[in-house]
Amino acid sequence: MFNLFKKKETSLLTVLVNGEEVCSITKGELPVEKSPSMKCEAGCAIEFIDSEGHKTLHDLGNNSGWFHFSVRVHPNLACQTDCVITDSKQFDENAFKQGKAVGIRMQPFFLSGSSTDTSIFVGRGLFKRGLHFSGTVTPGNTILSCICDSCHKSFLIQSYHAGFSNSGYFYSSSGKYTITVSDQIEGSPAALSDPNKDALSKLEGELPKAPDGSVFNYLNPFRCPHCNAPFIDFEKYPEDRSGEYYGNYFVGSELLSYEPIHS
Ligand SMILES: [Zn+2]
Repeated sequence: MFNLFKKKETSLLTVLVNGEEVCSITKGELPVEKSPSMKCEAGCAIEFIDSEGHKTLHDLGNNSGWFHFSVRVHPNLACQTDCVITDSKQFDENAFKQGKAVGIRMQPFFLSGSSTDTSIFVGRGLFKRGLHFSGTVTPGNTILSCICDSCHKSFLIQSYHAGFSNSGYFYSSSGKYTITVSDQIEGSPAALSDPNKDALSKLEGELPKAPDGSVFNYLNPFRCPHCNAPFIDFEKYPEDRSGEYYGNYFVGSELLSYEPIHS
């Protein structure tokens, strides 16, 4: 009966998948990891609702199967979530490691009450946003789910390690296309290097236009596909450009490749 007098701890975070609660987290549990699993059809979504009612929603795209989530909340109230999608109810870590299953990494965010000023992440690269980690290679079967700073809608991207593929990349000014350029081509902005300015502008002039007629430029931002606001804003933060050695393109779109014509 003493439980009647025990004040019920209010939850810091409630997590819903397709509107159904899959877990909740209280302050007393921190740091904590919860691992709910749920079978979902394509078009499902995960929603995070914090203690002040702030909502963060990630659309999980055309993926279907058993979604095995890992929701972590740290003492500084940062919330990190990943999921691995397999065809079985039982989570098999090896399925992901062997590349047989797809993983989705959701952009970390801070719960209400955190002392972190989240405006510091606006327009910054994927390392600063906690979607890639320096010194750790993000497996190729990982999809990233980003949240636009402006319209707050989520979008799924495929990231590839430009360094490992010996290439540089450019985004189109429309934000819809990404072109990859071998680092054997003069002016190609190889990962972690500052390209020679003259060679870079010459290459920019030689690159074909994107299918929608927009141009590829080194400092074009990577944009939100919903509202077109810059997501990785290289125009504002050119210092982030050479360190962003993952090139990105939208899930369902094609990564273009530059093939110079030799005369
Ligand atoms: Zn947007």
